Amino acid sequence: MRTPIIVGNWKLNKTIREAVSLVDSLQPLVADVTDVEIVVAPVFTGLTAVAKALAGGNIRLGAQDVFWEDSGAFTGEVSPGMLKDVGCDYVIIGHSERRQYFSETNETVNRKAKAAHAHGLIPIICVGESLEERERGKTGAVVTDHVLNGIDGLTADQIVSTVIAYEPVWAIGTGHNATPNQAQEVHALIRSFLSEIYSANVASQVRIQYGGSVKPDNAAALIAQSDVDGALVGTASWEAESFAQIVKAANEAFLN
Ligand code: PEP
Repeated sequence: MRTPIIVGNWKLNKTIREAVSLVDSLQPLVADVTDVEIVVAPVFTGLTAVAKALAGGNIRLGAQDVFWEDSGAFTGEVSPGMLKDVGCDYVIIGHSERRQYFSETNETVNRKAKAAHAHGLIPIICVGESLEERERGKTGAVVTDHVLNGIDGLTADQIVSTVIAYEPVWAIGTGHNATPNQAQEVHALIRSFLSEIYSANVASQVRIQYGGSVKPDNAAALIAQSDVDGALVGTASWEAESFAQIVKAANEAFLN
């Protein structure tokens, strides 16, 4: 049984004060949730204060990106060890906004995923096709390319503790989520080639979450799909009540 994971991607939002205020509102709303891993991913400047605010609770901390080197002349970058140091357990890697605006490639995703594992951080590797790629019937090929190259060289133990986020680019921030069937189809495809590369047993343990306009009113149907193990949530995670409702939908899906 895979524990669902709900991750809030705050993107480029929230000052330190706003970030702490959001987790202060969120924590009591999800304090009773025991069967879902809950993660929030603030901007780098908010990590220290949010880590402090989350101490002792059931919400864990993630970052939105990482560099692969430990230290050195890499102005502007943050290393995996530094993220661990500040209290992160997770890091989002290869988000489509980073691929689109910051030249992220499958190769850099792969380097970051390996570096994350080397420092005990769980990488959340984002993959997904654009609208044009979907309309040209390329969804399977694009997702396969993103996943296979992103995880290249990861051991079976590492892939089991990797989270894959299927995020169709056309669904991110648009209000047009994939249907549960569309999500399930791609998630099943990902699991089937993980099974070929590793084994059915390994593939059955990997969590594949869906992201793209997940809201309180569509979360339950998406997460109820057999290969959908949670959600990567952008917009709806910036407000405590809507994020808490998505977490609770995942908890119910797990218990049913
Ligand atoms: C995201 O940023 O990963 C995302 C899925 O955003 P939204 O929920 O706003 O579509």
